[in-house]
Amino acid sequence: MTAVSRVAIVGSGVAGTAAAILLAEGGVDVDVVEIKPDLTALGSGITLQGNALRVFDRLGVWDEVREAGYTFDVVGLRTPGPDAKVIAEVPDAPTGGPEYPATAGMYRPDLARILADRATELGARIHYGTTVASFTQDADGVDVTLSDGTTGRYDLLIGADGLHSAIRAQLGIETEPQRTGMGIWRAFVPRPKDVTHTDLYYGGPIYIAGYCPTSEEMMYAYLVEPAQDRHLLTPEQGVEVMKELSRAYGGPWNEIRESLGADSRVNYTWFTTHIVPDAWNRGRVVLIGEAAHSCPPTIAQGAAQAAEDALVLSQLLLGRDAVDQALWDEFHARRLPRATEVVEASVQLGRWQIDHVQDADVPGMMRRIATLVSRPA
Ligand SMILES: Cc1cc2nc3c(=O)[nH]c(=O)nc-3n(C[C@H](O)[C@H](O)[C@H](O)COP(=O)(O)OP(=O)(O)OC[C@H]3O[C@@H](n4cnc5c(N)ncnc54)[C@H](O)[C@@H]3O)c2cc1C
Repeated sequence: MTAVSRVAIVGSGVAGTAAAILLAEGGVDVDVVEIKPDLTALGSGITLQGNALRVFDRLGVWDEVREAGYTFDVVGLRTPGPDAKVIAEVPDAPTGGPEYPATAGMYRPDLARILADRATELGARIHYGTTVASFTQDADGVDVTLSDGTTGRYDLLIGADGLHSAIRAQLGIETEPQRTGMGIWRAFVPRPKDVTHTDLYYGGPIYIAGYCPTSEEMMYAYLVEPAQDRHLLTPEQGVEVMKELSRAYGGPWNEIRESLGADSRVNYTWFTTHIVPDAWNRGRVVLIGEAAHSCPPTIAQGAAQAAEDALVLSQLLLGRDAVDQALWDEFHARRLPRATEVVEASVQLGRWQIDHVQDADVPGMMRRIATLVSRPA
């Protein structure tokens, strides 16, 4: 007997769909509610580290992810300036183990589709355009009312509803994402043929210029600047800002700049950080993924940590016979220290740049986090 037989999940991002897949596979009846009307409008690209790929294999989607994405094992470091000199090509740590590439770039909507299809195939129901209107819980279950008026009783409610989690607020948890001081421009553009892995350009007028291939044809490119209010700019103005900011960067950025246009899905976001301290559950309602923690993508661990939350939670729910304090103690022991360390390191890396710290031990920090996340969650 498993600890749960009926679970509601709020949010169909990486955390929500990963939990839906694992629980449905384990025989649990799963409802996922997703506030968006469908799977579209999910941004451009995402960089997935090996430890995320290892979880995707466990979800049964690794072959599809590999097929749809673009994998590589090094990261290039370049200087600003017209020639964009390559100063190093550093092997990326294979944090998923030797059977996976160190990194995969992916088009986000492809990843979302693969995960949602797998969850549905295993019997989970995804209700688009729906949210949780309210819920109440007692010692044995959670009564949930959805925005379409339907009601249901579940053994557990999982809040996987991202950065601005409504479930987190409804639980009375006051932790909120804080800005780290950096903002990122991103665009989805054709891949120049000589771009075969991520390159990071440090120095110059902004903090970072970079890109990550997501398929043979496409990639996403990004520019990290001091956070500012860019939200009123039109997409056309966003393209112009990206062109202007990127002029200090040559090499493949010359071609990227030329290809930036109306169809580049340019978007701007602030980096944030938060972690819910002590406990991510209140009774039978638990937060996972960005509802519980966020970090700037300086080490690209957001999706990996979200997937790991789902994996550990599902293992415990399927491997134990009660939702009790022992289950939550083990969940928090396995997730809180690891996620906290990743969040703190991701913030520290950005902080060193903001503070112009010259002698920061970036390689040491990267090695420490790679060693940590290489161990299965
Ligand atoms: C600029 C930027 C770049 C990033 N780059 C990377 C990267 O390269 N690699 C990486 O690993 N991570 C990256 N991340 C982080 C990564 O995107 C997140 O960590 C990851 O997507 C979190 O997954 P999640 O499922 O917890 O949340 P989300 O992906 O945000 O999913 C939450 C889902 O819940 C839905 N939802 C929200 N509210 C409700 C509601 N009230 N009711 C129902 N549904 C709701 C949303 O529509 C969404 O589908 C980046 C983040 C940012 C901001």
